[in-house]
Amino acid sequence: MADEAHYRELIDTLNRYARAYYVDDSPLVPDAEYDRLYRELEDMERADPALAAPDSPTRRVGGAAVSAFASVEHRVPLMSMGDIFNDEELSDFDRRMSEFQDGAEVEYCAEPKLDGLALSIIYRDGMLERAATRGDGRVGEDVTANARTIKAIPLRLTGDFPAYLDVRGEVFMPRDGFEKWNERARARGGKPFANPRNAAAGSLRQLDPSVTASRPLTFNAYYVGQFEGGSLPDTQYGRLQALKAMGLPVNPNAKVEHGAKGLREFYEDMLARRPTLNYDIDGIVLKVNSLPVQERMGFTAKNPRWAIAYKFPPEEMMTKLLGVEFQVGRTGAITPVARLRPVYVGGATVSSATLHNEDEIRRLGLKLNDTVIVRRAGDVIPQVSGVVLEKRVPEEAKDIVFPAVCPECGSKIERLEGEAVARCTGGLVCPAQLREGVLHFVSRDAMDIEGFGDRIVEELVSSGKVRSVADLYRLSEHDLASLMLEGEKEGRKARFLGSVVAAKLVASIDKSRTVPMNRFIYALGIREVGSSTARTLATHFKSLDELMGADLNALMNLPDVGVVVAEHILDFFREKHNQEIIRELTDQSDLFSAHITLTPLEQASAGGSLAPLAGRTYVLTGTLDSMDRNSAKERLQALGAKVSGSVSKKTYAVICGSDPGSKLTKATELGVRILYEDEFLKSLAQLEGKA
Ligand code: NAD
Repeated sequence: MADEAHYRELIDTLNRYARAYYVDDSPLVPDAEYDRLYRELEDMERADPALAAPDSPTRRVGGAAVSAFASVEHRVPLMSMGDIFNDEELSDFDRRMSEFQDGAEVEYCAEPKLDGLALSIIYRDGMLERAATRGDGRVGEDVTANARTIKAIPLRLTGDFPAYLDVRGEVFMPRDGFEKWNERARARGGKPFANPRNAAAGSLRQLDPSVTASRPLTFNAYYVGQFEGGSLPDTQYGRLQALKAMGLPVNPNAKVEHGAKGLREFYEDMLARRPTLNYDIDGIVLKVNSLPVQERMGFTAKNPRWAIAYKFPPEEMMTKLLGVEFQVGRTGAITPVARLRPVYVGGATVSSATLHNEDEIRRLGLKLNDTVIVRRAGDVIPQVSGVVLEKRVPEEAKDIVFPAVCPECGSKIERLEGEAVARCTGGLVCPAQLREGVLHFVSRDAMDIEGFGDRIVEELVSSGKVRSVADLYRLSEHDLASLMLEGEKEGRKARFLGSVVAAKLVASIDKSRTVPMNRFIYALGIREVGSSTARTLATHFKSLDELMGADLNALMNLPDVGVVVAEHILDFFREKHNQEIIRELTDQSDLFSAHITLTPLEQASAGGSLAPLAGRTYVLTGTLDSMDRNSAKERLQALGAKVSGSVSKKTYAVICGSDPGSKLTKATELGVRILYEDEFLKSLAQLEGKA
């Protein structure tokens, strides 16, 4: 009896979660929690076949069509897929597939499982006729007008294509586009998306296609639902290649694999590469490669028998918010940071996550002791992406109070109109700002002064030995050696830095006295001037004086410098204190001040020639045979080029290796020039003077 009540409760809960996820694009819990309850329900139904509620989510495919869109009946339903979570289940799957083929080793097409939403696109005589979401599998939503705004989806096919083609694929939002979109939304006080999957679903299912057009969506085709009037290869992998030849983007990571061993290797490989991809994948999809075999195996009520989704460990998990700390950055920005009950997510144990700013806390409706969703994907820092309201205990939930004064220096915290960020007004008196400023100054991409960790910098600042970055160059070995790292405690003597480490630090300070101008500009810590903008500045201005004398127009004429960045640069150099520090550091006429000699950018990085690719932005796609992506990037940058992750009209050229991704499609659409590997190598050699 109790079991039956529990069974009912599980169904109601899962149906509520599924509605929020599929229909409202606004999930209530992380997928891992949904999957856990779903499996529990499946287990109950398997153990007791009498439990068979007609509204059980195990009986239906996906969500429901929303009435706001015209509904579309799929001629061939869009199926869901069974899923597995571990190696044992993988062996079982392979055994089942092999048994069907008299025990022979099975050939599979293994593909990454893109985390977006399924789309069916009908092409008639090569022209895009209709696009529809999956809906409940049988009836979906007509989103043709919206799909037409997605640049990766061709409006007309090329080459050989069947007269009628129903192609299935995934609409998704690349990570960089998602992060950029959310950053902008937060800065405007708007609502960020919880994750790229919701972002994709929410963006595609917009009533106004111009809204969809403004979102960074893309598409990968992965299956032919139906075709007439023409012929296609009779393997899944062959069909992917055929789709590609028709101009449809397909994922470059699909591979033919054999037996469980091959599948395992593919799983490991994709799992390892997952953080480096520019899109979310939540697992891999394994399909029997032969279409005749697929046809013989057929479908269950819900799933194809010849395919399975092997899910990766989740990138979103639930945990508890234990407290909130307020950290002060080098520009005084106050960042609330969530202290969390440690949770294993996205391949690491996470115990803190950024909450960005006050608006974000309010938007999330977050309270202390809440159960929250933590997201950690790729190398992006962990985020709190939502609150699980259902798990809130009202007596425990306490308001989070944003401080009125700086936790480090007690100065007033101010939030300017139109800005999402609150800042400590302490400026020079705030030890936190100075500490963060020094840490930035010594960091690898800046002055690269080795050995100055958090603890040493904190002590230098709090002891008053360092009051500005210029003071670093006045430190003697004695000053450093006598730095106390730990006071006397419980009978133990105080611990000092000592002369050996001090000598090393002095040596690394000395090493940094000659530095390329771009590094120095970056080290100054001007707001929104990252190392690539610093490079642009050092390329276009011959000296620091010239840069300091530049006006708004001169700055805004540079590539990648907009009005906001230009104003930050002007503000920085207008500030008396900053001028003083720069003078102290670089004034060669005053022997006591001359600490640093600036070398031009090109001397440090391009063998003495003028940076020949300055002002040009390149994008890399596909795999290069002769070098890995990082070396290609470094060599381009050494020649003064900028390397970007996405193609736009401003892109100078796309460098294309084998198995290129959707960047190639985009480049073709925008008419951006494409350099294949051999041409690229030739011009590299010429520019590097090695030809
Ligand atoms: P699914 O996500 O398990 O797998 C099927 C889908 O995978 C296909 O429809 C397709 O869109 C996609 N796919 C990606 N790459 C593919 C490829 N190469 N080949 C074929 N298909 C590919 O199934 P589903 O029914 O869409 O969704 C179920 C999942 O949704 C659950 O596992 C759960 O994680 C999530 N969900 C979460 C909630 C929640 O509240 N958080 C609620 C409902 C469902």
